Amino acid sequence: MEHRLTIDRITPQTKEWTSKVQLIETPRPRKSKDGKTRFQIAVVRDEREEQVVVVLYGEDIEKYADKLTPFSTYLISTAKVRVPLPYGVPINRFEWVIDKFTVVEEVKDDNIQDPPLLPPTRLNTIPFAYLHEQQQNTEFDIIAVVVNCGSIKYVGANNNKCREVVVMDTNVRPTILTMWEDFADTDGSIFTAQVAEFPIIVAKRITRASYGGLLLSTRYNSVILINPPYPQVGRLLNWVKDNRPRLMRYSQQTTVDSSLVLAAEQNDIVPIVSIQSQPHIQLFYVEGKLSFPIADQDFYELLCSHCGQQYRTHSPKIIHCASCKQRAMLTPRTIHYLLNMFENVFLINSSRYNCEKYFLELLIHDCSLCPTL
Ligand SMILES: [Zn+2]
Repeated sequence: MEHRLTIDRITPQTKEWTSKVQLIETPRPRKSKDGKTRFQIAVVRDEREEQVVVVLYGEDIEKYADKLTPFSTYLISTAKVRVPLPYGVPINRFEWVIDKFTVVEEVKDDNIQDPPLLPPTRLNTIPFAYLHEQQQNTEFDIIAVVVNCGSIKYVGANNNKCREVVVMDTNVRPTILTMWEDFADTDGSIFTAQVAEFPIIVAKRITRASYGGLLLSTRYNSVILINPPYPQVGRLLNWVKDNRPRLMRYSQQTTVDSSLVLAAEQNDIVPIVSIQSQPHIQLFYVEGKLSFPIADQDFYELLCSHCGQQYRTHSPKIIHCASCKQRAMLTPRTIHYLLNMFENVFLINSSRYNCEKYFLELLIHDCSLCPTL
């Protein structure tokens, strides 16, 4: 009779053992920093929801590639048990290396005597309300609805590949998760295909980005699970079903000039003193009384609609443009102008000519100048 043990009973000294476990993460093939070692990390859990990391190296990755499917159950015997390496994933005091000497057998659905494990329930996700309390560079897990997905971008001096997605919780508290490198490709293309359905993600070992306020970012050891079979995900899928029109409206508001922003919730009015601490990708509402600090300001300029030549006049009309020699309509363009704003009088909506952004720029600028704030 094989010696069945739960994960917590298995140590490097345990000689003969078998453990019934469920794969709860999609294994990701990785390369060591020097590029010499290929490895793959995944996580399994037992019937008591104790978890342990399993690692595969080199050729063993291909050997087990078809065998290891997320959320299937396996009987694993005599993997090599060791203390996690320093760059590993700190889930347990040990980790298992699956090599060619390890026996891995799938427990099939039709096995009535020894059935597969039920879907997992243990998640240590951080509620969105507490995200701001997370230190930058610490890793944590979230569960969220994906409401919009950007296209691939290359940023920074090293042209790092990334893709942004807007995620939110059931309190309609949104944030942006930036997925880097292979996450942008692999998971990003799934999101692009599925975003209209508002998929649920469990994103593990992500972090707060070090810029722009409350933004999230994948890391080297992150994992993104899309609609994994947790009961928590099922509940969120039901919430999506009940809130689809609202989510569709929100999703449309989060694309501005082909980049993603966080749309504003009408009932979330930001006090003027907090404007400067708002993330730069957040649209928001402020309330206040406006006044003009400088008399005689220009609010727009007029350009030739053909060639963009600017004219000093403020009367929109058809002219014969001296630059491009064509008859053209003078069309307005918003320019930066100054306003004072004081708390608690009325709500600003976006103005004509879509100058919302200018408003906010000028308000942030303005607040820092105003001694009463
Ligand atoms: Zn012109």
